[in-house]
Amino acid sequence: MTRITPQPGIMDIALYQGGASHLAGVDNVLKLSSNENPAGPVPAAMTALAEAAGGMHLYPSTDHADLRTAISEVWGVAADRVICGVGSDEVLQFVTQAFSGPGDEIIHTAHGFSMYPILARMAGATPVCVPEADRVVDVDAILGAVTQATRIVLLTNPGNPTGTRLPDSEVVRLADGLPMHVILVIDGAYTEYADGYDGGLALAETRPNVLMTRTFSKIYGLGGLRVGWGYGPRALIDVMTRIRQPFNLSTVALAAAEAAVRDTAWVDDCATRNATQRARLTGALRQLGLACDDSDTNFVLARAASVADADAAEAALNADGILIRRVGGYGFPEGLRITVGDADQTGRVIAALTRWREEAAA
Ligand SMILES: *Cc1c(COP(=O)(O)O)cnc(C)c1O
Repeated sequence: MTRITPQPGIMDIALYQGGASHLAGVDNVLKLSSNENPAGPVPAAMTALAEAAGGMHLYPSTDHADLRTAISEVWGVAADRVICGVGSDEVLQFVTQAFSGPGDEIIHTAHGFSMYPILARMAGATPVCVPEADRVVDVDAILGAVTQATRIVLLTNPGNPTGTRLPDSEVVRLADGLPMHVILVIDGAYTEYADGYDGGLALAETRPNVLMTRTFSKIYGLGGLRVGWGYGPRALIDVMTRIRQPFNLSTVALAAAEAAVRDTAWVDDCATRNATQRARLTGALRQLGLACDDSDTNFVLARAASVADADAAEAALNADGILIRRVGGYGFPEGLRITVGDADQTGRVIAALTRWREEAAA
């Protein structure tokens, strides 16, 4: 050995690009680029966090028993089939690291979460990207890509950045069609925004090879706290737990997340408000000639007629201090992913885009 060499795959990782948070020369920036909750953090979590702060000199619980109990009571799942991580990103990392390695393949879809290929490469595995059909996950394309080397299928449902949802019957067809050596991971980061959807819970409950992940980062407004969880077969959770660091979640994070999950009224309220503003934003975008699918999330993907048109729309929003997410890296160079804000914020987006179209027509 003559030099230090990283593990295979690591140098193929392109650094994750987060949503922008600053605009040069603008204060009062409205950040609609990272699907954060316009209502802020769930207040119960802030109270619990402050109370827990006095205990920070003590190491946190290693088994997350209180948080898992709260999750089990609220969601009706078995506490010993729940695993908690530093965001659902870490739970996804547990799965990819525990069940794949060099020579193995991890399937994700064309417009899936940009963390998926990174997670595959972190494990030394090979990411395999399959196309979607009109911005909806294509079950046949996934099944057609499965090989002897496939270990995991990563599915975002509802999708990001598409906002579309694969119907339950199609998710079941996917689960039915996968060989038993392949784990289906259903990333349900936006589940609470999708009316009548269980996030894959019933499948994770009954299938030996289906795992569901959920997050506190979106509807609970706790993206900065970093807590997520997974639910699935005991046998899989047991393996993943062995590679979880014992103190991965801090005392304050555990306390805040426990209070958050018990505040179901908050979730209902935020989901209702989001649905109202989402319908308003979707309607306005379409009227302004920006195509969009119906969204089951807290964002809308607007598609401009061309990249130049998208550039101009983004420039108009930026000029008004509004940050959105361009999604060229997700296969939509003409796309603008706009987080659904509160009523005032949505009004600000619509006004900026309306002015832009009016000025272009003048
Ligand atoms: C936001 C998001 C998550 C959440 O990740 P955390 O690590 O829990 O913050 C997971 N998956 C997708 C597709 C997301 O958009």
